[in-house]
Amino acid sequence: MVKPFKTVPVEVNTKKTPGYCVVCSRVATTHALFKGEGVVILQRYCDGCLPKADYKY
Ligand SMILES: [Zn+2]
Repeated sequence: MVKPFKTVPVEVNTKKTPGYCVVCSRVATTHALFKGEGVVILQRYCDGCLPKADYKY
């Protein structure tokens, strides 16, 4: 279990779809970045799920 090293608010003002929370499938508000082995993993979370965000290898 790894905590995100950085979180980035999802820009709401783009024409792209914001994407959906990986936990509950609501509209995501935050991108959380995790350091993997040699890669950065980006996951999307809503406000409700961000506090319990973790990445499992
Ligand atoms: Zn969620």
